[in-house]
Amino acid sequence: MLGLAAAQLGYRTHIYAPEHESVAADVAAHHVQAAWDDEPRLAAFAAACDVVTLEFENVPVDTVRFLSGHVAVRPGAAALEIAQDRLAEKRFVAGLGGRTAPFAPAPDRAALDAAIAEIGAPAILKTARMGYDGKGQARLADASDADEAWETIGRHPAILEGFVAFAHEFSVLMVRGAGGETRFWDSPLNVHAGGILSASMLPPPPIVIEQQAEARAMMAKIAEALDYVGVLTGEFFATDTGPVFNEMAPRVHNSGHWTIEGAIMSQFENHIRAVAGLPLGDTAVPLLPVTMRNLIGAGIESVPRLLAEPGAHVHHYGKTDVRDGRKLGHVTWVGISPA
Ligand code: AMP
Repeated sequence: MLGLAAAQLGYRTHIYAPEHESVAADVAAHHVQAAWDDEPRLAAFAAACDVVTLEFENVPVDTVRFLSGHVAVRPGAAALEIAQDRLAEKRFVAGLGGRTAPFAPAPDRAALDAAIAEIGAPAILKTARMGYDGKGQARLADASDADEAWETIGRHPAILEGFVAFAHEFSVLMVRGAGGETRFWDSPLNVHAGGILSASMLPPPPIVIEQQAEARAMMAKIAEALDYVGVLTGEFFATDTGPVFNEMAPRVHNSGHWTIEGAIMSQFENHIRAVAGLPLGDTAVPLLPVTMRNLIGAGIESVPRLLAEPGAHVHHYGKTDVRDGRKLGHVTWVGISPA
C-alpha cells in the first residue's frame, strides 16, 4: 500500500526484504531479497535510493544504523529502538508524563515474582521484544499463574503490566512532516479478537472522542522528542481516568487502513509525502460511518461475497501462505454500514 502510494506520486520503489515472498515487491520497481546483516547488499540498496522508510518495526536497529550512514532513513533508528522494546517504550512514555498501565520489568523468573508483588493481579506478562498481534503474552489471574505464564511466553525477558479495565481501545494516527508539521486523522474505535485487530470504526463512542485530544497531545510529545518524520501510531485504552497509552508503532498502521477510501489523504500517501519532504495532504474524513474489517486466515474466503457488495472496497494482499491469524486482506465501507 505504501508502494502503490509512492508510485502514484511518480516514485519508483525498491523493496529490501529477507523473506522469499514479498507482496510489496509485486508492485515495486526493484526488489532485493537479502539478510538484514548483508552489508554489501545494504550498501548497494542505499546507493540506489534517495530515501529509505520502513513498514515493519522489527527491522534490526543495526540495519537501520548502517543504512543511515549511507542514505536518509525516515523514521530513524531512535524511534525503532524504543518501539522494539516494550520496557524502553513504557519508560520513555512515562518519562514524558504519559499515562501507562502500571508496569515492572521481569527479565527472569525470580524478577517476575517481584514484579507481581509490586503490580498485583490481574496482570499481563508480555515479552519485552518481538511481540505483536497478541503473540508473546500471557494473562495472570493471580500469583499462582506465574509459572504457567512464564512458560507460555517462552521464558524470554518480559514486562509485567497491570490489567487495565478499559471501556474501549482506540488509536491515534498522526503524520509529522520533515519540517515538523503535524496532522492527525480522527481516532477510530479498534476491536480486537484474540489480541489481533479485527475492525476499526468511525465514529467511535463518545468516551473516545472525549479522550482523543489528550491522547493526541501525548503522541505529539513523543513525535517531537524523537524528531519523528512519517506516520506514527499510538494505541490507547479509553478508561474512567483518561486515555492510557498501550504501545506505539513507528509506521503506518492496520487501524489506519480505512484512510485509503475514508480520508481525503490516506496514511500511506501522507507517509510517503512526509519522508520525501513534500507538503502533507488533508487528513479530514468527509463521510461517516467508516468501517474497516480485516480478512484474517480463512476470512479471506469471503472475498467473492464481498465483491458482490457494491460499496465494499476489497483489498487482497496476494499473500500465498494462508494461515490462522495471518492478516491476508481487509475491506472498507465508507458512508454505509457493512451488510
Ligand atoms: P498489545 O500487543 O500490547 O497491543 O496487546 C494486545 C491486546 O491485548 C490489546 O489490544 C488489548 O486488547 C490487550 N491488552 C494489552 N495490554 C493490556 C493491559 N495492560 N490491560 C488490559 N488489556 C491489555
